[in-house]
Amino acid sequence: MSIKVEDYYAPATFQRMKAFADQHETPFVVIDRKIIADAYDQLGTCFPFAKVYYAVKANPAIEIIELLRDKGSSFDIASIYELDKVMSAGVGPERISYGNTIKKARDIRYFFDKGVRLFATDSEADLRNIAKAAPGAKIYVRILTEGSTSADWPLSRKFGCNPDMALDLLILAKQLGLVPYGISFHVGSQQRDIDVWDAAIAKVKVIFERLREEDGITLQMINMGGGFPANYIQRTNDLETYAEEITRFLKEDFGDDLPEIILEPGRSLIANAGVLVSEVVLVARKSRTAVERWVYADVGKFSGLIETMDEAIKFPIWTEKKGEMEEVVIAGPTCDSADIMYENYKYGLPLNLSSGDRLYWLSTGAYTTSYSAVEFNGFPPLKSYYL
Ligand SMILES: *Cc1c(COP(=O)(O)O)cnc(C)c1O
Repeated sequence: MSIKVEDYYAPATFQRMKAFADQHETPFVVIDRKIIADAYDQLGTCFPFAKVYYAVKANPAIEIIELLRDKGSSFDIASIYELDKVMSAGVGPERISYGNTIKKARDIRYFFDKGVRLFATDSEADLRNIAKAAPGAKIYVRILTEGSTSADWPLSRKFGCNPDMALDLLILAKQLGLVPYGISFHVGSQQRDIDVWDAAIAKVKVIFERLREEDGITLQMINMGGGFPANYIQRTNDLETYAEEITRFLKEDFGDDLPEIILEPGRSLIANAGVLVSEVVLVARKSRTAVERWVYADVGKFSGLIETMDEAIKFPIWTEKKGEMEEVVIAGPTCDSADIMYENYKYGLPLNLSSGDRLYWLSTGAYTTSYSAVEFNGFPPLKSYYL
């Protein structure tokens, strides 16, 4: 298998990133802001009726927050630290949603004091904390969804509750003086099966109807989370196809008069804007006759590539070296044997690859810098540069 850069980047864009990369010592991620701006615009074209809340955890760099702030994006925030960062960039509380269902009462109060009024929940204990610390706030309940086998990085199971419980929570929200506002779901990150949205939207519809008919509660919002695709080795449909299908599902269930629709993209906005540039430390064999070569890079699971856990995300890896390819195991530089990125899925790299050659990990703008360890084996966190 050999990776063609032009399947992932416009040639001029990649040339610009590479020219910058050539001037800098590895490892680092170089991120092209124009790609993010274009991805944001494309999302708006595909979903003209939706409001975008960028999931800050995907890449919390101030350069990205400022870009999306200027584009008019809102923000999905998970902690008081993300909140401080985004608000100190001048984003107002009306553009923020506290999307984490797992939060301390004192953190809820902190958000409320800063003016945030939109809160996610999926449990009674959290809902009661919100009622006390954020009186009168708007509440949306996150429901469980299927699709964990077709998502490369599932976010299911830990978050969300079953639809019957969502009904109970929204009724309780009203009793507690909160505003029962909507339903959210996340179908799993890098979700390759678009039909999973169909099932999720159908569940939402049932909740909307039950509450309206039996409890006199009119919900106003559906938060469809993230899950939209980035370009990795395993190809997906393009965003237009996702949008066409998801819009059709929404209209089938809700007609033309849609409720307020929120999207919370992380990966799909940011991933393709980044290239992680690394260097081969060593190429080795484990015995005289071993067929398999090990390629050790100066970047690994602890310096930004944690999504290679269970080889879940298969990043395209490109090198300038050409020639006969051979299957390799690819591992990182630390003294931890978990620091192996790809062993079962066979990456091919040129036989003449050697120490000092560069490896370019494409589509690494999301979930890399924010996942990088602080000081494991003394290696510093992954650097990033913004063009
Ligand atoms: C992580 C997360 C997202 C972003 O998901 P992507 O698949 O990266 O787009 C959106 N919403 C919530 C609540 C999240 O936790």
